[in-house]
Amino acid sequence: MALIVQKFGGTSVANTEKILGAARKAIREVKAGNQVVMVVSAMGKQTDALISLANEITDRPNTREMDMLLSTGEQVTIALMAIALESLGHKAVSFTGAQIGIHTDKTYRKARIRSISTDRMENALKEGRIVIAAGFQGVDDDLNITTLGRGGSDTTAVALAAALKADRCDIYTDVDGVYTTDPRIVPEARRLERISYDEMLELASMGAGVMHSRSIEFAKKYNVLVHVRSSFSDGVGTLIGPQPERESAPACGLALAKDETRLTVVGVKDQPGVAMRLFSKIADAKIAIDMIAQSSSAEGRTDVSFTLQSEDAVKAREVVDSFVKEEGDGALGYDFDNNVAKISLVGLGMTKQTGVAQKMFHAISEAGVNIHMIATSDIKISALVGRDDAVNALRAVHEAFALHCEPTPEELEVESASACETPETAPFASGVSPKLLNQLAGMEDVVVEGIDLDSDQARVTLYSLPDRRGLAAEVFDRVADGRVIVDMIVQSVGRDNQANITFTIPRNELEAVSAIANEVCEKYKSEGCRAEIDAKVSKLSLRGSGLRSHTGLAYRMFRSLSASNVNVSVISLSERSVGVLVDEAHGQAGLNSLKAEFSEESL
Ligand code: ADP
Ligand code: ASP
Ligand code: MG
Repeated sequence: MALIVQKFGGTSVANTEKILGAARKAIREVKAGNQVVMVVSAMGKQTDALISLANEITDRPNTREMDMLLSTGEQVTIALMAIALESLGHKAVSFTGAQIGIHTDKTYRKARIRSISTDRMENALKEGRIVIAAGFQGVDDDLNITTLGRGGSDTTAVALAAALKADRCDIYTDVDGVYTTDPRIVPEARRLERISYDEMLELASMGAGVMHSRSIEFAKKYNVLVHVRSSFSDGVGTLIGPQPERESAPACGLALAKDETRLTVVGVKDQPGVAMRLFSKIADAKIAIDMIAQSSSAEGRTDVSFTLQSEDAVKAREVVDSFVKEEGDGALGYDFDNNVAKISLVGLGMTKQTGVAQKMFHAISEAGVNIHMIATSDIKISALVGRDDAVNALRAVHEAFALHCEPTPEELEVESASACETPETAPFASGVSPKLLNQLAGMEDVVVEGIDLDSDQARVTLYSLPDRRGLAAEVFDRVADGRVIVDMIVQSVGRDNQANITFTIPRNELEAVSAIANEVCEKYKSEGCRAEIDAKVSKLSLRGSGLRSHTGLAYRMFRSLSASNVNVSVISLSERSVGVLVDEAHGQAGLNSLKAEFSEESL
């Protein structure tokens, strides 16, 4: 007998007819001899409706009371689902988050799961009942109701699957799988047969709303196979597991985050510790920031830009405002742009191929769109563009990478060997190590899989380029012609409307790339372009999962480096890695300090 967790999202339970449809899907599994735990969301757009009600009263509602309010949406669905199952002749029981025993921390509206007690669910299953759990909610140590963040029912489902050591976790939704990009925006998008945990985590974290990114952290950590499928048809769906669909492809998908805000703190003293104080305040406010860029240093000061989701913008501006006041430094200020969107290309294959960034920037430029900011990590490239341009840019990049094309049977065959099979080991066994599980305080605590020092890097920075469409494409066209694998790329636009582009390359490519950099500078000499080449840099990186969205982690990395007097010049952030560029002379000291800082969480 297998144990299956089935999750039904809002549209899949939008009315009583659909609730009965979902109930029948559960009954089908029971008839096949399986045990079923259902996780359900609020009906239709009920969560939005509840938020609007509160906002009719105030735009700053108390967060504890918001969680009290929002949790009612799921409570309605669980009761109706139990009533539906009983009406169809099956024993069922509904549980709220508190009744199942989902214990969380106290961060209202973004609570993280600490533990799940499975006894009550297991007893109900033994009695032959279908268990129905409310998604998206838990309870803290003082029995206050908490919620896990918008879209959090996916996280409840995968976390329950992990805690119950379920055989499968099926996510039923209104699309028939994970697509190369949102099929509602790009109709040519293609359903993927499967996708790896790392790729799905990055896509979800960058805005692909089909899965809550934290659910994929759980799936990867506890090796839960997740199947995304349609509530309304019987297709094969998409399997999220350890393997990618094709390793040979540079990219598997594209995410669009429509509502982004860029914040720039201007006039930051270029000294170790100042930027760190800023990031620590943002991390304390549990705001996950994404693209980070520093513009060139003039008179010992730089501008630090970063992006975040617009829903956090009010809070972030308050944080920055208090930072500026506390530093008591007349030259400090900030500005923001809340009319931007972010496009992110994701794929495990891009780590091994040249020209991927160039192709993306080229496609965006050909679509007539200017790129405001660029940031990369090992398996993703993000470009910030004007919100009105975002869909055009998204379509153009999708087309350029031929993401709509089905893989050939040969491409699939080579890599499909173990992909769709259930791992031979039980779900927990090949995920996180038992040693680590015992050490950690909470199920959702971050895991650092490794800390690396790469001393084979060189940095190239082009300062004062004109901020115009096609510029990044031009620079990386030339680099790609030389077949050089570029690693970290950061582009930002400074106050003077001039762009700076920094990227790193393997040190043995330095000569060729220096020549290219000098050619570019020669062309834009009249604009004041200058190239800076540093052959003595090292990259320090943390590997793991959930590294970006666990907001305190990057901050701890910066703090630990700053305490050892290691200055950080370029930062790349993603869910599976955080990389920083440091002086080669400080590489080893930096590595030692990170090893000491993260010894508890490291495998
Ligand atoms: P649910 O209510 O079932 O949780 P969501 O609305 O949260 O459903 O997620 C499903 C939606 O995600 C789809 O309707 C689709 O518009 C959107 N989406 C965004 N990116 C993707 C993608 N890469 N693949 C499939 N759907 C996507
Ligand atoms: N009902 C919650 C929301 O709309 C949780 C979920 O559906 O996953 O965000
Ligand atoms: Mg959802």
